[in-house]
Amino acid sequence: MKIVTTFEEARRGRGGLVGLVPTMGFFHEGHLSLMEAARDRCDTVLVSLFVNPLQFGPTEDLARYPRDPERDAALAAEAGVDVLFVPSLEEMYPHPPLTRVDVATLAAPLEGASRPGHFAGVATVVTKLFAGLRPDVAFFGRKDAQQLAIVRHMAADLSFPVEVVGRPIVRDVDGLALSSRNVYLSAAERVAALAISRSLLAAARAAEDGETDGSTLETMVRDGLSAEQGLVPDYARLVSAADVRPLDRLGEDAFLAVAARAGTTRLIDNVHLFVTDGRVEADPGIRLARPSLLGKGD
Ligand code: AMP
Repeated sequence: MKIVTTFEEARRGRGGLVGLVPTMGFFHEGHLSLMEAARDRCDTVLVSLFVNPLQFGPTEDLARYPRDPERDAALAAEAGVDVLFVPSLEEMYPHPPLTRVDVATLAAPLEGASRPGHFAGVATVVTKLFAGLRPDVAFFGRKDAQQLAIVRHMAADLSFPVEVVGRPIVRDVDGLALSSRNVYLSAAERVAALAISRSLLAAARAAEDGETDGSTLETMVRDGLSAEQGLVPDYARLVSAADVRPLDRLGEDAFLAVAARAGTTRLIDNVHLFVTDGRVEADPGIRLARPSLLGKGD
């Protein structure tokens, strides 16, 4: 595996179908599943590792975001990655960017409402990665479902010749959706956090059993979160998977999305609900058979 720091080097010497996995590093099995999907599908697998300051708010965790570039490089090499692109801040933003990618409507609800400017930062850096690396296929996790919807629209709106692929959420053995931020959780906060996946998966089962009322499904999730003292819920919403529009009724592909705080750590999770001819099939994600390499799983 080559480790490179400039766009120019990252474009050099590649062949065939080029797959890109954009990341902020501190890899876990969620990232590795995207790299494996890229490996299965593509001739050249590029992974970018950049903690993007543009997508962090002034009071957010940019400075303490977990980082371990050596461990990341070893994991990426093991996953069969060809090129690990680790740009410096100067390479990514030689000047303070005057151009931002505005994803107004899609960024309004859920994470966008709680994190002003977050998705403009994401859309801007992903645009730079698409323009500077010119992948044929780009792989994103459904863990960040609103981000996935935004990237799909952005790629189409800006005519990037890239196929955007969404992949299932990878969960630890206890159900907690993997996130680099899980390392912030104390043992007690982690136990509290399990209420998120538990209540989402219960609501998903109800949807599969025929419950299509949006507010009933949302209330199920909210009640599950409120029952857990160690959690402070932010939102629980049923939205369209295509454009993140709030849904009163489950009649199209959708996801039930949750954000909640455990201590000072903000966690997001969701469950996708695919609707075919009125039948609902939930995607509970992929549950690891062994505790995640992030540790602390049961
Ligand atoms: P990040 O490094 O957190 O920016 O994430 C990089 C990519 O990995 C994004 O496309 C995320 O949606 C995806 N990702 C993060 N956590 C998970 C997970 N638990 N399962 C699947 N994909 C994930």
